[in-house]
Amino acid sequence: MLKRTSRLSRGAYYSGNLSYSNFLINCANCNAPTGTDHLKARNNCATMPSGSCLCHKLKYEYTTEPLTMARNVSLPGTASSLTCVHTQATCHCLSCRKITGGTNSVNLLVPEDKIRVTAGSTKQYTETHENGKKLTVYFCGECGSVIYKQHESFPGSAVILAGTLDDPEGLEKSKPQVELYAKHRVSWLPVLAGAEQKPEF
Ligand SMILES: [Zn+2]
Ligand SMILES: [Zn+2]
Repeated sequence: MLKRTSRLSRGAYYSGNLSYSNFLINCANCNAPTGTDHLKARNNCATMPSGSCLCHKLKYEYTTEPLTMARNVSLPGTASSLTCVHTQATCHCLSCRKITGGTNSVNLLVPEDKIRVTAGSTKQYTETHENGKKLTVYFCGECGSVIYKQHESFPGSAVILAGTLDDPEGLEKSKPQVELYAKHRVSWLPVLAGAEQKPEF
């Protein structure tokens, strides 16, 4: 088992124009050094984690992408620009308090076409987030667990609630690289060491 390492230097998540030289990072799945060759073969090391709601009637799986750390990254040698998202973020916004019943959510951002409901069906509810954008939660109609969200601020992404992963180590592997809405972090909750701090999104 290869060690998971820091995959992108701090502060690079939202910088729009990453150059190839910024991309000396490791694959989130297989930990190989990434570059154009790895991207071309990226389906070779995809994994398919699964998750479910509290009553286990609603189940999902998603396909991971090796490079899911930065937004709108273009690499030389690829046919088109790859739109990637950073995968692991905690959020302290007021909506996430309601969704989780706790201080913050732990989220995995994946392209929306990579998540698939494999059993049961989702209900959904749309609300206006405090930033004025639409937020939709997808949940089990039986037990009410939210399994993922979609937010206009993250177009094309599904935001999976990492606590619904079936792997008992799922949250262990989901340490956030960024804290969102850090301005709402409760005073008794320490800053997550090494995580980029964003006041909002
Ligand atoms: Zn359920
Ligand atoms: Zn939030």
